Amino acid sequence: PKGVPGMKGSSTRLKLFYEEKKAIQLFLWLFYIFFISFELIYYYIYPYYGNGVITRPNQGLGFWIYIINFGLLPLAIYLIKKGNPYIIKYLYIYSFLLWDTIHNFLLYYGKDESFAAGDIVEVVFILFSPIFVNKKYFWTVSLGMVLKYVFFGVILLDLEVLVPLFIYIILSAIAFVILNRFESYIESVNKAHEELRRKEKLAVIGQMAAAIGHEIRNPLSSLKGFTQLQHENYPNTNDFYPIMIQEIDRINSIVNDLMTLGKPKIVQFSKVGIEEIIDYTLSLTKHLAERQGITTETIMERPSPPLDCDPKQLKQLFINLIKNAIESMPNGGKITITVKVEGNKMNISIQDEGGGISDEDFLNIGEPFFTTKKEGTGLGLMVSNQIIKDHFGEFYINGFEKGTLVKVMLPINQK
Ligand code: ADP
Ligand code: MG
Repeated sequence: PKGVPGMKGSSTRLKLFYEEKKAIQLFLWLFYIFFISFELIYYYIYPYYGNGVITRPNQGLGFWIYIINFGLLPLAIYLIKKGNPYIIKYLYIYSFLLWDTIHNFLLYYGKDESFAAGDIVEVVFILFSPIFVNKKYFWTVSLGMVLKYVFFGVILLDLEVLVPLFIYIILSAIAFVILNRFESYIESVNKAHEELRRKEKLAVIGQMAAAIGHEIRNPLSSLKGFTQLQHENYPNTNDFYPIMIQEIDRINSIVNDLMTLGKPKIVQFSKVGIEEIIDYTLSLTKHLAERQGITTETIMERPSPPLDCDPKQLKQLFINLIKNAIESMPNGGKITITVKVEGNKMNISIQDEGGGISDEDFLNIGEPFFTTKKEGTGLGLMVSNQIIKDHFGEFYINGFEKGTLVKVMLPINQK
């Protein structure tokens, strides 16, 4: 149960598709505006005033250049319509590299004429490469241009290529900086958005949970009371009462988890020794651990400094974490709890020897209701995270194949 991943994926894809479409449209406009203006000015207007430059049709590939470049346009429009705008940018850069190479080859190879560099569209390609926010495309353009000039330099043995080479390396560096800014900006916007989404989800779930929890609590407690009463009245009738009571307790603990999420918690800080909290937690989880052949070891310096915390909540936190550790080792193993004091921080880590957490699950843990267990609620880590946040602490989980390491860092003194 992970929400509706399919829908999430497709709406993201749709948004990215529109962004790519906008970017490629911008690129096409820029490309043709610069291309046409440059052609007009450099090959038609400029020569017209008698500067001795040969016009385009008589050079190299001549008119073929127009046929290629304007032939690409309907193809690009077709690809956009067909829903595949992603390859258009590559189509343009590769076709440019190809025709420009052939063109220059025809112009300069085996001739005395000195190499004259560059078309304005090269600058358009490089400077606007960041608009696609795509590293692979950026490197294709930059390396493509640079290698092209290196290639000409070697083939034509002409040092003139050094000028465009130098300029394009600098332009590429500028484009690279811009691209990186784009990427990191987008990443932080995404993170902020993700956090907002989580918070909204939490708020809704919280309200719902509190309401439902409240409604369930009262009938549940009378159910438990009557079951206990019945058990006392007829102690020898059957064996089901203890199971019934145990299951009612389970429902109760789920309801409690739900209620924890719902209310804005008022944390009641007091100074308590961490050993007391951990010992209490272990005494509660002892029977579970023993049943599965699990041993626990606690490594800490005693006495440790008293911790500013809400002991009730911290007990809940460690019960959640230790229960997870126990549940990860159905065939036995060892849980090591280590407490270390570093400055104003108390680091408590819980290491188990279970199956760890797969990469895929890792992305989802802590999401409400995400569980890999048949009987799980998927609320434990979320509640834990909330408790740690209320204590202004930090929470880390590392899941490897040989076990999971959960780390909780809490400030010893709250300000
Ligand atoms: P639940 O325990 O009800 O499944 P939690 O929020 O406590 O919910 O945990 C969510 C999921 O995170 C678990 O289902 C499990 O897949 C994973 N997980 C948490 N702790 C551990 C651990 N110590 N070892 C392996 N997996 C863990
Ligand atoms: Mg759990």
